[in-house]
Amino acid sequence: MARIVLKFGGTSVGDVDRIKAVAMRVKTEVDAGHQVAVVVSAMSGVTNQLVGYVDAVSPLYDAREYDVVVSSGEQVTSGLLALALQELGFRARSWQGWQIPILTDNAHGKARIESINGEDVIASMQAGEVVVVPGFQGITTDGRVTTLGRGGSDTSAVALAAALEADRCDIYTDVEGIYTADPRIVAKARKLEKITYEEMLEMASVGAKVLQTRAVEMAMKHAVRLQVLSSFTNKPGTLVVDEDEVVEQELVSGIAYSRDEAKITLVKVADRPGVAARIFGPLADASVNVDMIVQNVSDDGKATDLTFTVTRSDLDRAVAILEERHDDLGYQNLTSDSDVVKVSVIGVGMRSHAGVAQRMFKSLADEGINIQVISTSEIKVSVLIAEEFTERAVRALHSVYGLDAE
Ligand code: ADP
Ligand code: ASP
Ligand code: MG
Repeated sequence: MARIVLKFGGTSVGDVDRIKAVAMRVKTEVDAGHQVAVVVSAMSGVTNQLVGYVDAVSPLYDAREYDVVVSSGEQVTSGLLALALQELGFRARSWQGWQIPILTDNAHGKARIESINGEDVIASMQAGEVVVVPGFQGITTDGRVTTLGRGGSDTSAVALAAALEADRCDIYTDVEGIYTADPRIVAKARKLEKITYEEMLEMASVGAKVLQTRAVEMAMKHAVRLQVLSSFTNKPGTLVVDEDEVVEQELVSGIAYSRDEAKITLVKVADRPGVAARIFGPLADASVNVDMIVQNVSDDGKATDLTFTVTRSDLDRAVAILEERHDDLGYQNLTSDSDVVKVSVIGVGMRSHAGVAQRMFKSLADEGINIQVISTSEIKVSVLIAEEFTERAVRALHSVYGLDAE
């Protein structure tokens, strides 16, 4: 007998029939004698709809109320799945984030889980109940509802698996595992049997939304046995493992892209000490994450252009903050562009091999694609390009690094 956490994403619980199908899958595990906790997402499309309502009422919304609205999608699915399990003859109940509780910090809209008290949930499982937990939601110590950022149900599942000391955590989704690139845009993408935590972490952080970054971080930290697989087929998925479990390491293991990018340029900012701190300080205070940054060398030593990227959902907020401080920062003008995408090449093999970045730049040049911003880490190279070239760039890179399936 094992204790397991199963997570089902939006498409996997996309309608009532899918929820009934999930109940059948849970039944298989319960019939095998396992203690099962199920984490569910909102039905596909629901979270976007809820975000749309918030934007329509209040574009620069109060994030605490945003969380109240957007966390509700998961509540619906958790109740429905508990009911579907009861219809199959099981004792099942839902546990909302505040009932467990799943405690988070107060960074509303992208909160971090601080602790989960698994006691009551474990007692319920030991008493023979199937536990159903809505993903994505938590609560602060002063009792306000939080959400964990888009894709956050993955993190709920891994955190719960860690708290319950589960033997495994299976993430059911709408593709058969983790691929060398998004299989929806690269037909020749290959399914990986295994991927290291580190590579998956990097892939997720640059946009491969098959797992939320924090879920991978947490799985790595707590050594959660994590598998990604399809809820639509019965095939083995991809295991996320330690580096020593992967026998042969590719130079490049995957290509990822993120459309959730927007670029801001401050034209002719004063070139003197302290200016960058005055620009990025208020953005950080407002929880705006800045990602890629380039600052040109100034020709005259007086003024320079500064370009950086933020997520699309933070763009309006970031622009408002910078415009408010126009006089203090003394830039000439501000431009922004959200028709950009970040494309990244990832591989632990890069640590010991030169030339990966050069091949990337050459391949994009051959496709006639202009690179706007570049950033690198030990095991990844990212470029910002115009969004219209996304598919072309990802496919070309997938092929140039020899990742295409035969
Ligand atoms: P869920 O609702 O189950 O959480 P998501 O839409 O969040 O599903 O994540 C699954 C999607 O991630 C897939 O449909 C696929 O388009 C996308 N994806 C992006 N990169 C990859 C990758 N490298 N491997 C697998 N899927 C990927
Ligand atoms: N429903 C949330 C979202 O769409 C969380 C999740 O599905 O992981 O982002
Ligand atoms: Mg997801």
